[in-house]
Amino acid sequence: MANLVFDRLFAPLRGRQGAVLLLADGREVSGDALYRMIARQANALAGLGVVKGDRIAVQVAKSPEALALYGAAVALGAVFLPLNTAYTAAEVGYFLDDAQPRVFVCDGGRALGLAGVAGLHGAEVLTLDADGSGTLRDLAEGAAEAVTLAGCGAGDLAALLYTSGTTGRSKGAMLSHGNLLSNAEVLVHEWRFTQRDVLLHALPVFHTHGLFVATNVALLSGARMIWLAGFDAGQVMAHLPAATVLMGVPTFYTRLLDDAGLSRGAAAHMRLFVSGSAPLLAETHMEWEARTGHRILERYGMTETNMNTSNPYDGERRAGTVGLPLPGVELRIMADGAEVSVGEVGVIEVRGPNVFQGYWRMPEKTAEELRPDGWFITGDLGMRDGEGYVSIVGRAKDLVITGGYNVYPKEVELLLDAVPGVLESAVIGVPHRDFGEAVFAVLVAQKGVALEAGAVLAAVAGDLARFKQPKAAAVVDSLPRNTMGKVQKNILRETYRGWFG
Ligand code: ATP
Ligand code: MG
Repeated sequence: MANLVFDRLFAPLRGRQGAVLLLADGREVSGDALYRMIARQANALAGLGVVKGDRIAVQVAKSPEALALYGAAVALGAVFLPLNTAYTAAEVGYFLDDAQPRVFVCDGGRALGLAGVAGLHGAEVLTLDADGSGTLRDLAEGAAEAVTLAGCGAGDLAALLYTSGTTGRSKGAMLSHGNLLSNAEVLVHEWRFTQRDVLLHALPVFHTHGLFVATNVALLSGARMIWLAGFDAGQVMAHLPAATVLMGVPTFYTRLLDDAGLSRGAAAHMRLFVSGSAPLLAETHMEWEARTGHRILERYGMTETNMNTSNPYDGERRAGTVGLPLPGVELRIMADGAEVSVGEVGVIEVRGPNVFQGYWRMPEKTAEELRPDGWFITGDLGMRDGEGYVSIVGRAKDLVITGGYNVYPKEVELLLDAVPGVLESAVIGVPHRDFGEAVFAVLVAQKGVALEAGAVLAAVAGDLARFKQPKAAAVVDSLPRNTMGKVQKNILRETYRGWFG
């Protein structure tokens, strides 16, 4: 019986003598070696009683074995559930309680602290250290290399991926085999991936960007991956000559721009640079082009939907936009129950084979955001230009409502960012007795500049209606960001909530 994701992503590894993973220390993992690792792990997990539909929760460092674990879960028809390595024991407890996994795999160094948490929720604990060792490998070592695949069709679950928790508590998005495969197929085609490609993979594999966008696309196309444990600008620069594609969050690009070695020559053989997960400043886009001669391709997606839009490979990559809906993905921008006109802001909704099956054990939340006719309400605010390019203006939850008027933070942030001396900014609403919420700006200065908040606000006042003008501003060293480079406005709102007394 068919197993949709396994058949297309992992089965082709079997017998492939060439490398699929190139590791930082120079070691290579052949396709066949990875396939055998997957098969052994699958048999080890089956031996523990894992069956189709069981969740396998995983909080481990990025390694070849961690990738194999994804393949092993898929082989068994189990639901792969990766967790951010930064989560504390208490946070892990929440996810295990919510997801009720059959098995929990974590780093050996943390097993003692987490075993209690896992045991509480009835999960069997296995360990997998950064170097690949641990009880999972011990079990897998003696296991058979022939794997019996569980039959999985388009509607069967392949993964339970929790959202980043930027706007509230993380929600488990149920992703099916059809969701993952359809999006990978579209991206391989749109981004022109082939087996000649070498993807520089420095993203974490607990998030949709590194796990599905990057890995699925590479596996489906037969490309190789330079498999780095994490992002380090020097290390990425060192591996750039061997790569053809880099996928990153915006902070990858800003940090690489700080590296003196980044030049046209260093990027000459590269085919593609992709950015996503958080907004890429138009300034970064332009600086990158000036330094390397490449225009970064920005795309937009989310845990619940995989990728929705992308700038074109061949056509114009427009800075400050996330491009056009991907083939098969319908996108509409809604306000007051109707589609808005070109240039107007509304909430982005998407529909297509990429859209998830609902939130795990949250039927009410699912009903609120996933319409019965398949449209998913993303919660992102956006608009479209005359040619259909979509721009993200912010999140509906970040919209500031002051004295009854709507203020889109992005509009104010763009103006603030353009003031000389300002590196970046975040605009939030903070409680205010008269206005309900007041517009408040958090500013970061460019290196070596002493910013004066009042002067910055005065500089933008002429370009903004009075109600949009920040009532106050604070200068900070850096904005709080999570591992995916997303600005955590909830932290800023908490910090400045008492500003107006
Ligand atoms: P939560 O849903 O728990 O609040 P989250 O939405 O940040 O967290 P993810 O699914 O990791 O969790 O992120 C998806 C979001 O990231 C999108 O809804 C969008 O707001 C943002 N995003 C992704 N790509 C881009 C992009 N290219 N430009 C701007 N924003 C982006
Ligand atoms: Mg979200």
